[in-house]
Amino acid sequence: MIKAGYVTKTIKQNDKILIICDFDGTLSTSDVGYDVIVQFAGSGWEEIDRDYCEGTIGSKDAYTKIASLFNASREEMVTYAIEHGHVDPTFQAFYRFCLHNNIDVKIVSDGLDFYIRVILEKYNLKEIQFFSNVVRFHKNGNVTIEFPGSNDTCNECGNCKSNILEQYRLTYDSIIYIGNGYSDVCPAQKADMVFAKDILYEKCLKNGRDCIHYENFDDIREYLERSFPFFCPGRFLINFIYR
Ligand SMILES: [Mg+2]
Ligand SMILES: [Zn+2]
Repeated sequence: MIKAGYVTKTIKQNDKILIICDFDGTLSTSDVGYDVIVQFAGSGWEEIDRDYCEGTIGSKDAYTKIASLFNASREEMVTYAIEHGHVDPTFQAFYRFCLHNNIDVKIVSDGLDFYIRVILEKYNLKEIQFFSNVVRFHKNGNVTIEFPGSNDTCNECGNCKSNILEQYRLTYDSIIYIGNGYSDVCPAQKADMVFAKDILYEKCLKNGRDCIHYENFDDIREYLERSFPFFCPGRFLINFIYR
């Protein structure tokens, strides 16, 4: 049975389109948030992570507990993120395709701002707006995490992706969601079209949420070009400009 609201909506020509893209393991090749925790949180984080994965606690509680376990400076953590964080090599061509077709791209992450910011800068992508949880490094060495995107009716997510998606309903005709993990399951059910891999793909299948499986951003770009002939393939435009 197909449940109402779970079916992929067709995109029409001249629709104002927003792509909401997850960061860790989607835009970035690895889960930088997880790697940062493994690297810099003292003992005790494994139980917190297990509770989160089992759904016993939300990410907001998990992060609040983990923040007190961090024992490194901002500089150490930022340096680590710059060295270990990589944007998926297929993203650049995909992003150009979006720019050429007036498709807006925003990153919505339940990860942490400091590493998202420096990784985007490293790849000249800092113009892309992102929403995430915010880490504060205090003078006394303490680390705390703030949740500007949390939502009173949910209160489980640090950064409530569904809430952000709903807010953009007012300004966009179509919202495409791209993700891979637990925090993408809820917003994926509210999007018009979903590209999913890993855990998100499994959960979509289980929930009866129509989705398109992808491995990288070439798959997504090719799917959109093939399905909607009104999109201009960005690569031709680039050849034309530089000829
Ligand atoms: Mg992810
Ligand atoms: Zn939420």
